[in-house]
Amino acid sequence: MPLYKSQSLKVHNTLSGEKENFNPIHEGNIGMYVCGPTVYSNVHLGNVRTFMSFDVIFRYLLHLDYKVRYVRNITDAGHLTDDGDIDNDRFVKQSRLEKLEPMEIVQKYTVDFHKVLDTFNFLPPTIEPTATGHIIEQIELTQKLIDSGFAYESKGSVYFDVFEYNKRGMKYGELSNRNIDELFANTRDLDGQNEKKNPQDFALWKSASPAHIMRWNSPWGEGFPGWHLECTAMSTKYLGEKFDIHGGGMDLKFPHHECEVAQGKACNGESPVNYWLHTNMLTMNGLRMSKSTGNYILPLELVKGDNTFFEKPFEPNIVRFCFLQAHYRSVLDISNDAMVASEKGYHRLMESYKLTSSLKASNSSSLDVAAWRQNCYDAMNDDFNTPILIAQLFEGARYINVVNDGAETLTSEDIELLSTTFSTFLFDVLGVNNKISQNTADTTEKLNGTIELLIQMRNQARADKNFALSDQIRDQLIALGIQLKDGKEGTSFSI
Ligand code: AMP
Ligand code: ZN
Repeated sequence: MPLYKSQSLKVHNTLSGEKENFNPIHEGNIGMYVCGPTVYSNVHLGNVRTFMSFDVIFRYLLHLDYKVRYVRNITDAGHLTDDGDIDNDRFVKQSRLEKLEPMEIVQKYTVDFHKVLDTFNFLPPTIEPTATGHIIEQIELTQKLIDSGFAYESKGSVYFDVFEYNKRGMKYGELSNRNIDELFANTRDLDGQNEKKNPQDFALWKSASPAHIMRWNSPWGEGFPGWHLECTAMSTKYLGEKFDIHGGGMDLKFPHHECEVAQGKACNGESPVNYWLHTNMLTMNGLRMSKSTGNYILPLELVKGDNTFFEKPFEPNIVRFCFLQAHYRSVLDISNDAMVASEKGYHRLMESYKLTSSLKASNSSSLDVAAWRQNCYDAMNDDFNTPILIAQLFEGARYINVVNDGAETLTSEDIELLSTTFSTFLFDVLGVNNKISQNTADTTEKLNGTIELLIQMRNQARADKNFALSDQIRDQLIALGIQLKDGKEGTSFSI
C-alpha cells in the first residue's frame, strides 16, 4: 500500500488562506510547478531558501509514494527591469554590462544555478523548461486570449484586459487579496506610451525594436513574451489546464501569480491551480536578502567563507539544516550566531546517528519508537513543518543516546525502526547529504590523526633537544591556522 494512504497531509493554500486537506486531482499522482530563477545573474542565498523549501516538499511527496511531475522553469527571456523599459530587459541590460551575448548570460547563470543546486544536494525537477524554448506555445496562448476577447493588441504589443476579465464575473486580485479599485489608484502606466486601455492591464506580448536583441516573430510583429505568460504556457503544456500545486516566493504572489490565475481562468474557465504554496523571505541581519539593496550573499561565498558577513565557512549541510529549522512560511533570519547554533545542533544529531549501528538489542522495549515515528510524519503532514520534524529528530537522538548508555532498552526490531526512520527523515526527506557528512567526518578524523602524529614527533624532538625541529613543527602548524597548547595533561590543539 502506498504510504500516502496511511498519512493525511494538510497544506496551507494561499487561495483560501487556510490549511486544507491535500487531495491530488489524480489519485497517487501530483503535478507541481515552481517558478524558477531569472538567469541574468547569480542566484543569491534568498533564492536558495525558496527552492530548498520546494525541494523538501518534493522529497516528502516522493517519500509518501506519490508519483510527482515537478516542473521548475528557467526564465531566460521576458523579465523586464523594475522600470519596465522594454529596451532594458534584465538579460539585455546584463549582457551590455558584461559585454556578452544575452544567450551567453543565460548560459553562464544557468550553469551557476545548477552548480549551487548540486552543492546543496537538491533533487532535480522532472522537467526544467525554458521560456525561450516555448515561444510558440506563448504566441498560441496570446492568440487564444485575443480570440476570446480577454486580450487586445496595441502598437504591436498585446495586453490582458483586466476590466473585461472582471466584467465577466471573475475577480482579478483573488489570490493576493487585492482590491481592484486600490490597484487602479496605485498602478502607473509604466511604459508611458498609453498603449494600455487600463493601467493595470499586463503585457502578454511586448513589441520590440530591431535594436532589441532578444525578439521573435509573431502575428503582431517582432517582440518577446511577457514573464507571466511563460509560466502559464509551460505549466499548461506539462501539467495540464488544472494541476495540483503551484509554488514560489511570496513576493511573486502579486502580480506574477495573480496574472497566472487570470490567464488560466480566461483560457479555460476555471482556476488553473488547486493549491498555491508561498514561501517566506530570507533576511540577513534583519533585512530582506535582495540583489538590489546589496544585502545579499552568494551561496558559494557562504560555503567557502569568502564573505564579510560570516566569521567562517559553513558546509552545505549546515546551511540546509539551518534553513529547515524555520517553517517555510516564516521569515528566516540568518546571522553568524544562527549558523553556529545550527552547526552545533547538526553535529549533535550526526553523532547520535553514528551510534545506531552499534546499539545493543534487548528482549523488550522501554521506549515507544512507533509513536515517535508517527510524530515525525505528523510534523511533515502539518504543512511540511520541518522545525517540528527536526525537534522530533532530536528526540530520536535522545532515544539513541539513552539506549546506548543502557538507561533504556529497545528490541532489535525497534532499533531498526529507529535507525531507518532517523536516516529516512534526515537524509531522504530533509535532504542532508549523507555522503558529504560522511566524507567530512572521515577527513576530520584523518586530519586529527595527522596532527596527533605531528605532536608526538614534536615531543620526541624536544626530548632529543632538537628545538629547531620542534619549533618548526609548531610554527608551520600555526601558519596553517592550527594552534598547539602545552598543558599539564600534554599538548592539545585547536583549528
Ligand atoms: P527570481 O530569480 O528573482 O525570480 O527569484 C527566484 C525565486 O526566489 C522566487 O521564487 C523568489 O520569490 C525567491 N526569492 C527572492 N528573494 C528571496 C528572499 N530574500 N528570500 C526567499 N526567497 C526569495
Ligand atoms: Zn512563474
